[in-house]
Amino acid sequence: MSGYPHFLAPIEINGVALANRAIMASMHTGLEGNGPEAHARLARFYAERARAGVGLIVTGGFSPNDAGNLKDHRAEMSRPEDAAEHRVVTGAVHDAGGRILLQILHAGRYSYHPRSVAPSAIRSPINRETPRALTEEEIQATIADYANAARLALEAGYDGVEVMGSEGYLITQFLAERTNRRTDRWGGSFHNRLRFSVEVIRAVRRVAGKGFLLAFRTSALDLVEGGLTGAEIATVARAAEEAGADLLTTGIGWHEARIPTIAQATPEAAFGFATRMLKQAVTVPVAASNRINRPETAEKLIADGDCDLVMMARPFLADAAFVEKAAGGRAPEINICIACNQACLDHYFTGMSATCLVNPAALREDEFGASKAISPRRIAVVGAGVAGLAAAATAAERGHDVTLFEAASSPGGQFDLAQRIPGKTVFAETIRHFEQRFARAGGTLRCGVKAGPDELRDFDAIILATGVRPRIPEFPGADHPGVLTYAELLKGREPGRRVAIIGAGGIGHDVALYLLGRDGHAHDDPAAFRAHWGIDADIAGPGGLTGILEESHGAPEKIWLLQRKDGPFGRTLGKTTGWVHRDEIRRAGVEQIGGVAYRGFGDDGLEIEVGGEMRRLDADMLVLCAGQESETALLDPLQSAGGELHVIGGARFAGELDAKRAIEEGVRAGLAV
Ligand code: NAP
Ligand code: SF4
Repeated sequence: MSGYPHFLAPIEINGVALANRAIMASMHTGLEGNGPEAHARLARFYAERARAGVGLIVTGGFSPNDAGNLKDHRAEMSRPEDAAEHRVVTGAVHDAGGRILLQILHAGRYSYHPRSVAPSAIRSPINRETPRALTEEEIQATIADYANAARLALEAGYDGVEVMGSEGYLITQFLAERTNRRTDRWGGSFHNRLRFSVEVIRAVRRVAGKGFLLAFRTSALDLVEGGLTGAEIATVARAAEEAGADLLTTGIGWHEARIPTIAQATPEAAFGFATRMLKQAVTVPVAASNRINRPETAEKLIADGDCDLVMMARPFLADAAFVEKAAGGRAPEINICIACNQACLDHYFTGMSATCLVNPAALREDEFGASKAISPRRIAVVGAGVAGLAAAATAAERGHDVTLFEAASSPGGQFDLAQRIPGKTVFAETIRHFEQRFARAGGTLRCGVKAGPDELRDFDAIILATGVRPRIPEFPGADHPGVLTYAELLKGREPGRRVAIIGAGGIGHDVALYLLGRDGHAHDDPAAFRAHWGIDADIAGPGGLTGILEESHGAPEKIWLLQRKDGPFGRTLGKTTGWVHRDEIRRAGVEQIGGVAYRGFGDDGLEIEVGGEMRRLDADMLVLCAGQESETALLDPLQSAGGELHVIGGARFAGELDAKRAIEEGVRAGLAV
């Protein structure tokens, strides 16, 4: 018996038998509607997860009509030829023993194109387009379009559909006063605002009965002003059940909410309280979502009665075999999603197709297929940061005899530093994952060894992954004892009371967050998280907001974040997560000064020049976050010695270094040797 009896228990829903309680939740991949080749990639991606035991898969969103498309790109289920194009997906999943639902998503005012429609013509704060208000006839037609999409899904071989009714999309927009100011039978009273959801579910239910699973993804918590109260959320859930929903999948927060719901600042399983309230309102099964990334978390949520099933999207990008490993007593081998969004949602929202930072093969399975080495060779990898670890593990798994040299006493490199930032402790899992894979494949890790040409002489190929070192800018006083690098601070130096940070890139922001939150638990304790972000566990008022935000404790009395360029801070931060960091820093009163020239640091603080005027900041500590330089001391000697040499990650190019590129280059090098 596995250690997860609740999570892995089978369940039958409206005649559809699921092998366990794991739902691979809907996620935009950027491949939806992109033609046969993209759908073939999706088919392979989903089939691999189905084969590895995922109970139920839900596709990315497909619109029931033109107006509902999320972008100005057609990802629809509205014509017979759409259904035909999906058969490759349903066929592959069924052949792999899985079950799959089509998600029907009408984006409403979240459509990023000029044809967007909504209950009322109110623009979303996260969209430049103002939607047009739907007419009565258009509302009726839209309901019919949902039913048509469900009919086509049935034709395409899907086991059912999930109607997207959360996260602030069209159905949610009808439900909330925030977005619905209509005065006809679709607006005004809550009863009227509920009508659209109910009519959509009824219309979809009429398409097929037993054996066709109808999931309604309902918002368990809106987290916006003018959102629903807990009592209204429960009413929606009951109405959805009565209208014919077999399963309530859930979502947390509208996309325009100013509270993190899936970012690293959100503790794992932070919203179990909301799903629990929903579960008490209905008799159909309820699935929980958001920040569930380990089997033990899934198990606990179900065992505690917070939900019946668990939805995870990103964790299945990170590891196709999540369920298989949990079931086989190999949970420690799971490649844990670190909630960075860097290669998945950030890709989607910048027009690229999704993959995964910790698993670059995700959605590119063909490109990264590993084959056994024809003739095993002796490979040296120098540097056990994530680039070196990924390279070493991949090469060793292919049968090579790999030695991984690391000058520090333990592996991890920049990830080892990053895991000290509040919310990023999970980075330790990535280090552990690659380290374990390397060890299981028989690799030799030699920490505390600064490998030189002599140690590397007898290898057939060398992968140089020596990473980066912090850039030390030149200015008078740069050698003052109050000046330190971010690495020295994160390794445990006690912060000053008045701290200036030079450099406002990803690391400068991280250091500010470290100084603000290193004594706090908002990132790992759900109660502290709720207090920090003003979330009401009783969801008594609209949106479940208390309106009271708790401040950080133990932070320095003053922090300055400085950059030489003019213009906004934090532009290089993640597309979907950067706002969380920027908001936190602004809210905590960190003073941000741009257009700065650094003139000197001493006992009386930091002297800067801004707009031609000198200014003194009475800082007692100066933290350097001024970017990186490649650590390439070994490059020349190795190149002179000749032989096969691969230079990857920060050692190859320090600018815009991030872990996404480092791990991908590591895996590619591991496949190339
Ligand atoms: P970065 O993003 O390049 O930022 C370096 C900062 O240092 C910039 O603000 C730059 O701004 C300043 N700077 C550069 N040269 C300087 C000099 N000679 N003197 C003074 N200031 C100088 O690099 P990073 O912060 O070290 O981050 C490294 C990588 O890790 C980046 O790719 C980053 O995206 C990634 N990362 C991402 C996150 C995240 O949240 N997604 C977190 C951590 C790290 P000015 O030139 O305007 O002064
Ligand atoms: Fe998770 Fe980051 Fe991978 Fe997205 S890119 S699935 S957030 S680890």
